[in-house]
Amino acid sequence: MEIADPNNPLLILTKEQRESLWKQLTNEVETYISVVDRARLTPSSSVSEIDAILSGFDFEEAADPNKVVEVIVAALWKHQTHVSNSRYFGLFNPPPSTMGIIADTLVAAFNPQAGSWNHSPFAVQLENRLLRLFARRFGLSGDDLGGVFCTGGAEANHTAILTALVNKFPRYTENGLHGSDLRPALYVSTQTHHSILKAARLCGLGSRAVRFVDVDNDLKMDLRQLEYRIERDLMDGWHPFMIVGTAGTTNAGAIDPIGGIAAIAKRFSVWFHADAAWGGAAALFTPEICDEFGELRKADSITFDAHKWMSVPMAAGMYLTSQKDILARTFNVQAEYMTGETPVAGIPDPYVHSLQWSRRFIGLKVFMSLAVAGWEGYRKVIQRQIELGDLLREELQRAGWHVVNRTPLPVVCFTDASSNAELLCVGELKQIAEDIVQSGEVWMSCTTLSNDAEALRACITNCKTTEYDIKHLIDVLVRVRKLSLQRRGDPFKYRPLSRQSPEYT
Ligand SMILES: *Cc1c(COP(=O)(O)O)cnc(C)c1O
Repeated sequence: MEIADPNNPLLILTKEQRESLWKQLTNEVETYISVVDRARLTPSSSVSEIDAILSGFDFEEAADPNKVVEVIVAALWKHQTHVSNSRYFGLFNPPPSTMGIIADTLVAAFNPQAGSWNHSPFAVQLENRLLRLFARRFGLSGDDLGGVFCTGGAEANHTAILTALVNKFPRYTENGLHGSDLRPALYVSTQTHHSILKAARLCGLGSRAVRFVDVDNDLKMDLRQLEYRIERDLMDGWHPFMIVGTAGTTNAGAIDPIGGIAAIAKRFSVWFHADAAWGGAAALFTPEICDEFGELRKADSITFDAHKWMSVPMAAGMYLTSQKDILARTFNVQAEYMTGETPVAGIPDPYVHSLQWSRRFIGLKVFMSLAVAGWEGYRKVIQRQIELGDLLREELQRAGWHVVNRTPLPVVCFTDASSNAELLCVGELKQIAEDIVQSGEVWMSCTTLSNDAEALRACITNCKTTEYDIKHLIDVLVRVRKLSLQRRGDPFKYRPLSRQSPEYT
């Protein structure tokens, strides 16, 4: 067996190699940040093209590190949707803050094990402070505010269901759902994020335990339906333990009646979880835009994603709670090999407080971004995007589109309001969205709202987006609609918009 040359360790590399790599890295990152707004948004990738790149690596021979970086950078440029582009009107993936990129790089290099205070006192203490600060900013109160950083909203929602189960059924940690005639039920609206459904499966509840409540015309949870469903389920032998309200649905930005849900949760003694994954940023920085944001203080727990509207690199979710000890009661375990780790009073070790064990220092990118932008800086950024959302609505109406959702948040769902609209074929809006994505000039999508009604969807989450980008979006929309009409040819070949129409081809 060949022993690695200690002067050329294969993993750490030599000082000369590292210096050359750092230069290459900062050059490439700087180029990406300064050029991405001019890049084509949509990749035109094929499986074989990507396979060809990957087959260049057989892992038998050591490759030149600069060359590896070069190949990977080229592949990333070519084969991804550039969500950081200011004309990306899609999901909640804003451009990562520069301080966030620096934080994530430092975290990768210093690699603190943030699972316990003894291993990484700075990381754990920083996160603990930040979590309490965010909980307080959301209006939660109590001596025992706390929470955990998560990979994202999905993990935070999973954590929420687990804590709600332990809250209602304290023996759940020992017995699980085995050998009992428990039939736990949790309540969500039909617009709730799908991560709840997955989390219910992960908790052993199954999807049937997730009880869907209808929404009103504004896509908000219908409170009378909610009460009615809970009462009926109680009579049928279900055990309600949780209601999830969403402050800013993913689809259309609906803000559920948070105060009303809190009151119903109280009446039935069930846990109230507020999913504020992206809308939470508006609650934190521009609370005046919706009265319901003030009611978030009544939540037992809150999901908030800093990697959405706060523009930090991905994987920065938070689960926040005001309920004393609930995380410890849910996750506490004893591990023999952790015996050297004496817990510090008032600062719980994340490993006994969360799903994760080895833990990345997630909080640093939030901390460093907030330190540089400040609360006021963030407020301005969010405020501006809310205004651009209003502008987008106006411009759409002017160009003959009909906005179908009502929300103060900058996510706009719309259909064609022009004279040809009644001849719209099923799938035509979807085709328009696909054509737009293919153009590579802007990115937006098509969604279905309640009653399966299709709508185009454009969302602003990018701090670099300007009025010009919105005009560009409108131009592309108008152009693609014209194309779509031409393609339709003889309109009488197609039946008007109805569920029975054939798929548009
Ligand atoms: C994005 C989102 C989630 C899921 O969060 P991830 O960070 O993608 O895991 C949950 N709820 C809502 C309302 C969301 O918008």
